Amino acid sequence: MPSAFTHEFNTPAFKGKVSFSTGLFINGQFLDGSDKTTIDVINPTNGKVITSVSEGTPKDVDLAVDAAHAAFDTTWGLHAPGAQRSILMSKLVAIMEKNADELAALEALDNGKTFNWARNVDVAGSIDCIRYYAGWADKVTGQVQETTEDKLTYTRHEPIGVVGQIIPWNFPLLMMAWKLGPALACGNTIILKPSEFTPLTAIRMCHLINEAGFPPGVVNVISGYGNTVGNAISSHMRIEKVAFTGSTLVGRKIMESAAKSNLKNVTLELGGKSPNIIFDDADLEQAVNWAAFGIFWNHGQTCCAGSRIYVQEGIYDEFLKRFTEKTRSLKVGDPFAPDTFQGPQVSEIQFNRIMSYIESGKAAGAKVEIGGERHGTEGYFIKPTIFTNVDPSMKIVQEEIFGPVGVVIKFKDEEDVIKQANDTVYGLAAAVFTQNLNRAINTAHKLKAGTAWINCVNSLHSNVPFGGFKQSGIGRELGEYALANYTAVKSVHVNLGHRM
Ligand code: NAD
Repeated sequence: MPSAFTHEFNTPAFKGKVSFSTGLFINGQFLDGSDKTTIDVINPTNGKVITSVSEGTPKDVDLAVDAAHAAFDTTWGLHAPGAQRSILMSKLVAIMEKNADELAALEALDNGKTFNWARNVDVAGSIDCIRYYAGWADKVTGQVQETTEDKLTYTRHEPIGVVGQIIPWNFPLLMMAWKLGPALACGNTIILKPSEFTPLTAIRMCHLINEAGFPPGVVNVISGYGNTVGNAISSHMRIEKVAFTGSTLVGRKIMESAAKSNLKNVTLELGGKSPNIIFDDADLEQAVNWAAFGIFWNHGQTCCAGSRIYVQEGIYDEFLKRFTEKTRSLKVGDPFAPDTFQGPQVSEIQFNRIMSYIESGKAAGAKVEIGGERHGTEGYFIKPTIFTNVDPSMKIVQEEIFGPVGVVIKFKDEEDVIKQANDTVYGLAAAVFTQNLNRAINTAHKLKAGTAWINCVNSLHSNVPFGGFKQSGIGRELGEYALANYTAVKSVHVNLGHRM
């Protein structure tokens, strides 16, 4: 019997008792892993164990694949009309809404993000995403193609089949929703692996999925490590597609094992080192506020974080002064306190990784304007950090730190800054701040990134596609574009009388 997680929340933001099984979710049931081992879930505010969850193995992935195929062949896939899928997804939306505060509390406890952001972005965004794709479920259709008078030719957008989905820890529930939404809408069955660091909301969602009445085997969730469960998914011969969100390093491995196994279809949402360009004519106060939100929101653990901040020379000094003041005002601390902006980093590994980047910046001669050290004495808190006096060759300028660490760089003119901004292997997002419309649009068009923001950052909507250029990914999530990731197009030719 898998163990249950029981926790009494008594925080200003949420009070209540939460209790649920933390087993693997296979064929609608909560099970122990085949090796009966578990993974400890750590509270990043103090490093203590919150609970443990069942650990999956490749054998468990096989079981889940069997269940997903059985569901695809009997109760889902072509056997569940779009309208029926839409109704079930809408039921799930209603149940998520009922449990929204609990989901936010779990996310804050497990990941360390603040309850407020979890409630207003992660949970609200997940609900919105499933609702958006519930609307698509009965609208995924092919087209009639005009060919010749004696032929009827049309396409069908069929579900791919059993799909694998591997997600990271930075937005655990939201990344799950981005993956489940389009896959379910198109009629696929799913084997999803949450991050080993943050499995709680994914497991809780399985209980809500059962409550909504999804047939067993449509969604299967296997907690576990990347090199075991993740690898079993990406290399599985009976999984037709793998969708991955995570680091570029692991994305490369996923693609390799997909290629070496059954050449499964791959979509990748990977890392970034996004530029945020602030021209002399920007609304300075707004640029400062957005720049802080761009790099420090979600503790810098955002794939599209504006981590390279380019400021034009005319306003550089004033910007830096105000940006430093703004950074000083951001409250770091308890994720459940209403005025906290930034909680702890997700794990000790991530904390050490970020601190080593900070040390590398210092050693390379960059100047710490503010921060540059841990916050407090326990847990994985890091002070919001700004570096100046950086060189393009430094690791802190080139590599994704995935923490609250930004570099501010002075630039001369448009040509100069576009060249610097595009000088990266990544291409996930970019932002430009200016009140000159022509300059804003021209710059946005010249930046090599899947998303270009003008006078805002980190702005996402369920109906707007999101994804990367270059090594930031392959394919797009969200919007109508994501449906293509989960459909196989079949062309049907009907002979209306042409005789041989
Ligand atoms: P990660 O790549 O270490 O892990 C992501 C997931 O892959 C986890 O579930 C992990 O267990 C699994 N995994 C690890 N090794 C694996 C393997 N060999 N085979 C299969 N699966 C494996 O990433 P992370 O540290 O969890 O997340 C941070 C990264 O995610 C950052 O690079 C960030 O930019 C990226 N990210 C991108 C987006 C986007 O939309 N582009 C969104 C969120 C996060």
